[in-house]
Amino acid sequence: MEKRIVIGVLGLQGDVLEHIDATKNAARKLRKDIDVISVRTKRDLEGIAGLIIPGGESTTLYKLCEREGIFEEIKKIRNIFGTCAGTIMLSKNVENKIPGQKTLQLMDIEVARNAYGRQNDSFEADIKTALGALHAFFIRAPKITRIGKNVRILAKYGGDIVACEEKTKRGYYLALCFHPELTTTLFHEHFLGRVFSED
Ligand code: GLN
Repeated sequence: MEKRIVIGVLGLQGDVLEHIDATKNAARKLRKDIDVISVRTKRDLEGIAGLIIPGGESTTLYKLCEREGIFEEIKKIRNIFGTCAGTIMLSKNVENKIPGQKTLQLMDIEVARNAYGRQNDSFEADIKTALGALHAFFIRAPKITRIGKNVRILAKYGGDIVACEEKTKRGYYLALCFHPELTTTLFHEHFLGRVFSED
């Protein structure tokens, strides 16, 4: 029997259910039959073809990953899609981080946490991306302030990079500053396309 593809959504905090739904909808649009699971333990991480790290709060996410003993294990996953706090987790360097806060450092990007201001300064906007136009929610979002030479920009807003991707020897990483799971499946489809192309 053909092995089924399993995508995990880090289920410790944040928009977990929304990402699970968006991933299932994206797979349906691509006419692919996959399983999508919430990941909370080392065991859940075994056998997944890709991981989505939802938005939430990056300091809390880091602490919860350490508590569950999966912070180092996540680095072994070859395809990772981070949004907001997930993007902070993927980054090499963070401006405005909490002392002791660590990131996975898998992607050659630098981000500024809470760069648009406080929670009240959250906003929504219509943006153009390499995948198409969409409506985006920026919720106490970070800004991507520096990218490495192999990082491809997928969207900018107000002059700032808000979506990008990088393929390294280690894996494929996709990072967004907004919350796609609330309005579109475009980026989930893009991520799944990447995972399927590895087969
Ligand atoms: N401000 C959050 C952080 O620092 C990110 C916000 C989000 O994920 N929407 O982690």
